[in-house]
Amino acid sequence: MAFKLDDNIQYVQGVGPKRAKLLNKLGIKNIEDILFYFPRNYINKITDKKISELKINEITSIKAKIISFGKIGNRFQKAKFQAIISDGSGYLKCIWFNASPWLEKQFEIGKEIIILGTLKYYYNSLCMLHPDIEFADEKKESFWAKQNFLPIYPLTEGLSNKIFQKIILNIFNKGFVVSETLPKYILEKQKYLEIEEALKKIHMPNSREDISVSKKRFIFEELFYLQIMLARRNIYWHKATGNQMKLKKTLTTQLKNRLSFELTTAQKKVLNEIVDDMKSPFQMNRLLQGDVGSGKTIISIFAMLLAIENGFQAAIMAPTEILATQHYFAIKEFLSEIDVKIGLLLGGNYAGKKKLKQDILDGKIDVVIGTHSLIQKDVNFQNLGIIIIDEQHRFGVIQRQSLSQKGQTPDKIFMSATPIPRSLALTIYGDLDVSVIDELPPNRQKIYTSWISANKKPKVFEFVNKQISEGRQVYLVCPLVEETEKSNLLDATSTYERLKNGIFQKHKLALLHGRMSNQEKDEIMHQFKNGKIDILVSTTVIEVGIDVPNATIMIIEHSERFGLSQLHQLRGRVGRGAHKSYCVLVAYEPISEEALLRLNTMKETNDGFQISEVDLEIRGPGEFFGTDQSGIPKFRIANIVRDRKILEQSRKLAFEVISEDYDLNLEKHKFLKKKYKKDFLRKEKLFSF
Ligand code: ADP
Ligand code: MG
Repeated sequence: MAFKLDDNIQYVQGVGPKRAKLLNKLGIKNIEDILFYFPRNYINKITDKKISELKINEITSIKAKIISFGKIGNRFQKAKFQAIISDGSGYLKCIWFNASPWLEKQFEIGKEIIILGTLKYYYNSLCMLHPDIEFADEKKESFWAKQNFLPIYPLTEGLSNKIFQKIILNIFNKGFVVSETLPKYILEKQKYLEIEEALKKIHMPNSREDISVSKKRFIFEELFYLQIMLARRNIYWHKATGNQMKLKKTLTTQLKNRLSFELTTAQKKVLNEIVDDMKSPFQMNRLLQGDVGSGKTIISIFAMLLAIENGFQAAIMAPTEILATQHYFAIKEFLSEIDVKIGLLLGGNYAGKKKLKQDILDGKIDVVIGTHSLIQKDVNFQNLGIIIIDEQHRFGVIQRQSLSQKGQTPDKIFMSATPIPRSLALTIYGDLDVSVIDELPPNRQKIYTSWISANKKPKVFEFVNKQISEGRQVYLVCPLVEETEKSNLLDATSTYERLKNGIFQKHKLALLHGRMSNQEKDEIMHQFKNGKIDILVSTTVIEVGIDVPNATIMIIEHSERFGLSQLHQLRGRVGRGAHKSYCVLVAYEPISEEALLRLNTMKETNDGFQISEVDLEIRGPGEFFGTDQSGIPKFRIANIVRDRKILEQSRKLAFEVISEDYDLNLEKHKFLKKKYKKDFLRKEKLFSF
């Protein structure tokens, strides 16, 4: 009898309790799990790639003969097993650490071998580390011996590919009952394989074509279901009752008339989108995107004033006190002659906090700016009509939800300090409407950026002296607060001491880092802003939050350590005024290939959207924000960078499906509904706030 999808994996021939346990570790509990556990790659026995054609970092199959092999290593290096193979076009070194005796036993000089691996630089020579292997001259009549493509699975210790392949084969031999998970009309439209055939081809392909067509289907399927969920949320938002605001042009017009600059075309367009949303009877859920310095803050202020002139209160939540404080001062300045009451609510206990909370409750405060402090139980609003969440990925779902629940279906704007690549925005914020400010205010100069090795620093310091003598100010960022025994990275504290007592004796220096009290930090920020400090030595706490137009140099120590988005954020602290600005990235050996790519990207472009795309490509979605709170889904087979096109298609189709059939009740969506209910409905509920 054929397997059913929910049959326990333990009942498959060749899987005992011990292997079942190992499989469980990989998340494989039943037949469905293993069928949807896809190969990470394939050994291609009929490959015609030559060793001489190999490119660095490219994963390839190579067929060659074993020239020599043996254990190597000395007291300074780990023992390893090494083999040299050749296909006549060149020689290739393969290395395995902690190789099993079983692996070594299979090697024979002159024997033909097929390997799958990635060419890398290792200790100054080119080689493949831990390639997967298969011997061509096995005269066995077994199924896999005759297959030209061998699936290679991402496995765990104690479970070999040979065993996994056997288990897969046993399942296919016995057969299984699987129902289609995509609507027929979509399969036809997209020319995708039906599920059974696709499963067979992805696990036991006979050609490259088999691999690519089956993969495509499953990539689509994975992205499509996520987009169905996001489409349902998005369309739900568009039906969710909200507050219908009217453009009364009282406060908003006052601000408009007071502005010392004209909004850019992009800002006007985005503001219109927001105003339209707020005027509608539905709740606004909008992601506001724009590069550093593109002028997001002023847009959020207009939105808040619109809510306030309709009798509502507004709140901004920021992830750090520095950022909240910065918003507070910026907003206070913009609204200085407008009759709006502004409050800053920080964490901890301090004088006046109790009264502020009472005033918020009594509706005496119109705009409340704060950190997580805003979502405390004892903070309540009289009539909260709009919330703005800055750096939204730094907050968890529950936190965002908590703020939202302080009001009656408030309108919501989510902001991000650095641009998020479209593909990522579509997956994590795909339920939101998106506004993009894709233009910087006029007369912004490009920030001249270069990267230097540490021994060139004296030249840079000379230049710093010159700029300071012309009245400008300088940031110097270090990765750490204090010297630690383990690390030889430059820390902010000792750098500050050394420079203050050394080369910059004549200048006024200050130190800023996250371990200082808020009061101390504020005081220093204030002094820097007022030009009382020439050089601010700091950790990355200045990443967000300081706007000092007179600062023209940003020096970043150990820039090889920083992520691209962070470098871009830091660079954005200069170039905010009329003077030409500079960003100097100081890098220390060893500089990895990736670090080099980051540094060169910074040098080549000032465009945050372009930078974020490169950053996403280098780090992958999981690491993009550098936090684990960002809620990025883990994909089995899809890769949103590589599969951008399929992502767009899946989104388009998912929105079509949900616009037509929100609850998936149509006959043609029967299978879709079944799988969606089983695997996604619960996840969808997490989005609801
Ligand atoms: P970000 O998008 O990084 O939050 P900000 O809102 O801080 O950018 O804006 C950066 C600076 O540019 C601020 O000093 C702001 O007042 C100013 N600004 C915003 N919009 C314009 C504009 N249209 N023209 C000139 N300056 C602007
Ligand atoms: Mg509305």
